[in-house]
Amino acid sequence: MSFASFGLKPELLKAIEAKGYLEPTPIQSAAIPAILDHKDVMAGAQTGTGKTAAFALPILQHLTNPSTPNAKVQALVLTPTRELAQQVSQSFQHYGQHLPHRTVVAYGGVSINNQLSAIEQGVDIIVATPGRLLDLISRKAIDLSEVSFLVLDEADRMLDMGFIDDIKRILRSVPTSRQTLLFSATFDDAIFKLSQQLLNDPTHIEVDPRNAAASQVEQIAYEVDKNRKREITSFLIGSNNWKQVLIFTRTKKGADDLAKEMCKDGLKTQSIHGDKSQGARERALEDFKNGTIRALVATDVASRGLDIQQLKYVINYELPHNAEDYIHRIGRTGRAGETGKAITLLSADEKWLLDEVHKILDTRLLQQWLPGFEPSLDQDFTASKSKGKNTRRKPSGSRSRRR
Ligand code: AMP
Repeated sequence: MSFASFGLKPELLKAIEAKGYLEPTPIQSAAIPAILDHKDVMAGAQTGTGKTAAFALPILQHLTNPSTPNAKVQALVLTPTRELAQQVSQSFQHYGQHLPHRTVVAYGGVSINNQLSAIEQGVDIIVATPGRLLDLISRKAIDLSEVSFLVLDEADRMLDMGFIDDIKRILRSVPTSRQTLLFSATFDDAIFKLSQQLLNDPTHIEVDPRNAAASQVEQIAYEVDKNRKREITSFLIGSNNWKQVLIFTRTKKGADDLAKEMCKDGLKTQSIHGDKSQGARERALEDFKNGTIRALVATDVASRGLDIQQLKYVINYELPHNAEDYIHRIGRTGRAGETGKAITLLSADEKWLLDEVHKILDTRLLQQWLPGFEPSLDQDFTASKSKGKNTRRKPSGSRSRRR
């Protein structure tokens, strides 16, 4: 299948070609025709599957043409984080570069003034986080009364972050006769409930098995003593000569401390989390993308929506408390057909968190020891609530340990 076979406008095909996309990804093949056919869509797709183009291209195709300055907003995309909002708006701008439509992005944590003046110049598509959009609505700075397309991107994350009431308030300003598209990496009862309220006879699309991790990602868990995690992290990166590694910690302080320690190990590292200013986050991300730094340590919220081309390595320095975050984390690698490796550093006290991950993955991770970093004998990795089969493998060269 080719992009041309969807009947997309030549302006869009030109922009797709400039991106170097050879053929649509599975989510694009499934979603683009349905959206072009004016259907509501509920799609299970992780970040990295090409889901942004899956909704941006058909929306751009549908927008009335030509748009007039100060026209009312025609498409509204809600995202959980500012990083994702930026990336989605950049995608709209890129795919729509040969079309006249204007995209504006609005998120909190920065002055509202630039966003107000951007809106004043006319906006066809607004990509926004819920809080800032409500602010704009309450100032009467934006008119959503002619929105024909509503997208909820990473809807599961928006619910996790407690945006449900904000979303309901926003919906009061949006017409009920519209096309609604809901994208979510994971599905649970809350998402289904939301979809029933928002979507009208939706087309269900699921390109990956529900709640399954990206298949091209090799997943490994190294059992290791908690106090040796920093050491094994630097060892893995240094000895394998990995150039671009995204590392996840559970806390902001943990992210800062690890980044500092890794710098002392000679690995250029920065941290990114919610306490950093928007400017600092953007700079860290840019340094990571252009190779100025080798590792980026992130918390879960800060990492949402990060799109780094060809990111090969993700390290879970600590497992998340919310098992679904594991899926989001490892979705940062193995994107759009690339392969990737996701390494979990598992200390004995996190065994129960791994059990939660196993439940959601419906499979078990290979648990190994890395020679030289075998956990000490008093650490019990067997204490597990789960009764599944043990897939732990001991690599040759590692010492045996009594149980
Ligand atoms: P997304 O899931 O929308 O965050 O996209 C993940 C990455 O895949 C982005 O870097 C896109 O530029 C890229 N991408 C999207 N569609 C395609 C395609 N058809 N072929 C190759 N790469 C793509």
